[in-house]
Amino acid sequence: MHASTVTSAAPVAQLDPSRMAQLEQVLAKVTGRAQTILRELHDAQALFGGWLPGSALRRIAAYLRATRRRLRRHWSSTTCSAPTWSAAGSSAPASTARARCAAATRQVGRAQRTVGLCARLHHAGRCVTLEAVRCLGLCDRAPAALRNNVRHAPATADTLFDGSPAPAQLRIGGLVKVALTNVGVVDPTSLADYRAQGGMAALRKVLREMSPTQVIEHMKASKLVGRGGAAFPAGLKWEYAARNPRPRYVICNADESEPGAFKDRVLMDGDPFRVIEGLLIACYAVGAEHAFIYVRGEHRLGYERFSQAVEQLDQAGYLCGQSVDGPFACNIEVRRGAGAYVCGEETALMESIEGKRGFPRLRPPYPVEAGLWGHPTVINNVETLAKVPSIIMHGPIWYNALGTSESAGTKLFAVSGSVQRPGVYETPFGMTLRHLVYDLAGGLPEGRTIQGVLTGGAAGTFLTAEHLDVPLTFEHFRKVGGTIGAGTIMVFDDTVDMADVLARIGGFFAHESCGKCYPCQMGTQRQAEILARRAQGDRRREDLHDLQELAATMTDASICGLGQAAATAIVSAHTRWPMLFE
Ligand code: SF4
Repeated sequence: MHASTVTSAAPVAQLDPSRMAQLEQVLAKVTGRAQTILRELHDAQALFGGWLPGSALRRIAAYLRATRRRLRRHWSSTTCSAPTWSAAGSSAPASTARARCAAATRQVGRAQRTVGLCARLHHAGRCVTLEAVRCLGLCDRAPAALRNNVRHAPATADTLFDGSPAPAQLRIGGLVKVALTNVGVVDPTSLADYRAQGGMAALRKVLREMSPTQVIEHMKASKLVGRGGAAFPAGLKWEYAARNPRPRYVICNADESEPGAFKDRVLMDGDPFRVIEGLLIACYAVGAEHAFIYVRGEHRLGYERFSQAVEQLDQAGYLCGQSVDGPFACNIEVRRGAGAYVCGEETALMESIEGKRGFPRLRPPYPVEAGLWGHPTVINNVETLAKVPSIIMHGPIWYNALGTSESAGTKLFAVSGSVQRPGVYETPFGMTLRHLVYDLAGGLPEGRTIQGVLTGGAAGTFLTAEHLDVPLTFEHFRKVGGTIGAGTIMVFDDTVDMADVLARIGGFFAHESCGKCYPCQMGTQRQAEILARRAQGDRRREDLHDLQELAATMTDASICGLGQAAATAIVSAHTRWPMLFE
């Protein structure tokens, strides 16, 4: 059991026979393909209210002809935490709550207090399992919690256990809307509504007027680069995959799971049809007949929205080759992960889709050459795909003219921490950090000043108040040692304890390391221990040297981006605030 998990001594309960009968129905849907194992586990868990009793687990293992150990290992390798197995066999927690323990926002104290209150409830006899987790993708509404997969944000002990979740406040804005065009405007559950707003016109245009090669050239000319953090040119990625033999696949990476990152969540929840339209255009361009959408486990709403959208598109003939606009056919499967940060890494994500543990693969070969089941595969982020319909409709010149010569178009920024209006803001590249933090996100609370801004997420870098007038572009951020990444911006005011922030970042990576390679497995643990000890006031002469050694080893020798970037923010903090390491 996770160290920060508390479980009440629940009464031993007889399992409801009707639930076990329903479990049999879930298992009857198993197609024999091992890759859907996560879906069966999710479905079975939902049957029992968010956990799996031992007898149910035994039955699933027997049905799948797998050992329980294998199921547990598989599940835990794709979960960031495992609140779902009951250690006491048939004793059942009445509810499962997972409270967000923010890695780095001013809400940290409040989150901790929430956890404390919840623990008191538990000691008062409430039958719950409570687990502090590192990220729920809800930094704009912290402190946040999930109760049996339902979001409570902001959460209090009262609303978490006895009340309804607070109504979701969607804070979006910006100077221009491309990816956000329909969010808050269309009904995300209605294809008819999406179409009434001009939805599916880009797909229609592509199918009627453009060859796949023309679509790829269009995307290359737009200079759209991936919005998941790596910033690889999207059109080039499509071209590379299309050159390789069929079958080919396209995956929408909706596994956004890093402290401070929530811009894809807003698109998934608010405009799933737009993302899928972009995905279908990518499939047409690449020549893929099968696509996947891999959604972060905690984003149940996003998963439901995508599933519903795919069903409606299928019924309307967009997927099965009966589209009025041509014989284009593409099957889309929506998959739900189980919360592991590493599954956002594209090769680990593919392993998970194939039904294996979410372990990253060595590269090369790259996914465009040998991806899913060894076939060419394009993986695009949610925001990247949400840009595609507008680029098709308005043209590549319109799009790249929105930004600068090296940073084309617009970007979604998720702003959180010490700001008055945390939310998702879309701006053309070239606006300043000051504009984003003060004009759009409302600036800091009265009387506070900026101590630091973490850009690019937990694997990003720190800037300070002197960088407020740096334009938000790849080229300008590079010059000052900043990172655009996926567009995560966390603001820390002068009251925040930065040593504590670093300890939380260290703890996040130590928790999320998948353990496949030694430099990251051990490096993240040692780094977290040193940072946690220092945050407690125990600072030793050798710490700086050790942290630098660890950083160099992890960066040079880790297999995947998680380990390679696990020390980036720590190294950056040393550059900005050397006194923190004295
Ligand atoms: Fe796993 Fe870390 Fe190695 Fe990536 S770098 S494969 S997360 S142990």
